[in-house]
Amino acid sequence: MSDRYASFVQTGAGRALVKRLGLPDPPRLRRHTPGDPLVPGPVLLGAAEGSRLTEQVTKLLTFAGVELRDPVAATDAPARYAALVYDATGITDSTELRQLYDFFHPQARAVLPSGRVIVLGTPPAECGTPREATAQRALEGLTRSIGKEFGRGVTAQLVYVTKDADTDTLTGLESTLRFLLSGRSAYVSGQVVRVGAGTARPPADWDRPLDGQIVLVTGAARGIGAALARVLARDGAHVVALDIPAAGDELAAVANEIGGTAVQLDLTAPDAPDRLAKHLADRHGRVDVVVHNAGITRDKTLGRMDADRWDSVIDVNLSSQERINDVLLARDLIPAGGRIVAVSSIAGIAGNRGQTNYATSKAGVIGLVDSLAPVLRERGVSVNAVAPGFIETRLTARIPLMLREAGRRMNSLAQGGLPVDVAETIGWLAWPASGAVSGNVVRVCGQSLLGA
Ligand code: NAD
Repeated sequence: MSDRYASFVQTGAGRALVKRLGLPDPPRLRRHTPGDPLVPGPVLLGAAEGSRLTEQVTKLLTFAGVELRDPVAATDAPARYAALVYDATGITDSTELRQLYDFFHPQARAVLPSGRVIVLGTPPAECGTPREATAQRALEGLTRSIGKEFGRGVTAQLVYVTKDADTDTLTGLESTLRFLLSGRSAYVSGQVVRVGAGTARPPADWDRPLDGQIVLVTGAARGIGAALARVLARDGAHVVALDIPAAGDELAAVANEIGGTAVQLDLTAPDAPDRLAKHLADRHGRVDVVVHNAGITRDKTLGRMDADRWDSVIDVNLSSQERINDVLLARDLIPAGGRIVAVSSIAGIAGNRGQTNYATSKAGVIGLVDSLAPVLRERGVSVNAVAPGFIETRLTARIPLMLREAGRRMNSLAQGGLPVDVAETIGWLAWPASGAVSGNVVRVCGQSLLGA
């Protein structure tokens, strides 16, 4: 599971060889540790003329303890920034895109390693004129390119904030800004996140954003699910960790370590939704967050695939999620403020040779988010998915060496992600403070070239 090459390039000999041969140079990424400041340096905040979010973003970041600089003062004092944040909501015509160049060009080399670039815009569909919509859509090309260009672990994202978002306080945007600026988003780059209306409850302590929440994690015995259970418990949740009976020992170890509860259950069993719902009702009376993480692969090209492989993958990865959602919702076990987060995959976006069954199931998960999010908005329940790329787990350790190396390096960060990176992203979507984020599919893939 270890990336020996990435460790080697951090050594003296490794650095010399990488430079001489022009080899990929995976940077060491800044990851979150509780108690860390949000960013390890000053943040440059700029805005296009007439932008609507700047005042609140200034307040919000200042309140979060961030040292803000403005671009006018910055010209005579060369500095290095932990992040560049730009409010582009005022751009209403392509001719005004020049303001982006004017802001970012002088700062292209001024961003610290593992720095952040965040551009705020208005969803094109909500723009008043075709010209405004065109200009706002153009922002995506900028952020995605910066993600590929700046290097050294710098990530870049576009956040579209709807006009009906609560712009008096911007509490709906706060959790997203905090996630994207922090080390929690180390392996997320080149993404477009939409923040809408939706209720958001900021936590008393941003280091425990899930305090008091009851969270179900499926597939929690190992890999990404085990990392998820640990991260969500660290953030204050009581975790109900579920996995198949055959993984009972590993599951119990995870649950004991984090003071959670272990539930041995095969999700594909006909009575699984009923048994799970009863467990949650009896023990907790509710479940605030449901994370559908359990998943399997049964790879074969379509012509060689037997029906069992097809059926089992669709059932575990997709249909069982639907059955469980239906029962938990029908019995009112997911209260207002609840969250459903499902794990998709970049294979569900790009397709993959030998994985028609898997890619179908994972694209279905995206369909589930698209279709369920608007329906559950009225109940105050958000639905989102993450789509991991190459993550260092037992699953990817089994890929043949050359393919594995290609998967690891073919992204803007030149390395595979860690289970904790997927877990932190799911954590953000699960926070009570993230109620304004719904219907999103966020890739955790280091801006992988696959499915780009
Ligand atoms: P993993 O195989 O290590 O863990 C999956 C867990 O799900 C296992 O503990 C397994 O026992 C459990 N599970 C499987 N079938 C189940 C069932 N019927 N009932 C209950 N539990 C069941 O895999 P992982 O790499 O940790 O992947 C977790 C999720 O992330 C999966 O949905 C996977 O498709 C997705 N994903 C992983 C990667 C990656 O690079 N590892 C990339 C994209 C997506």
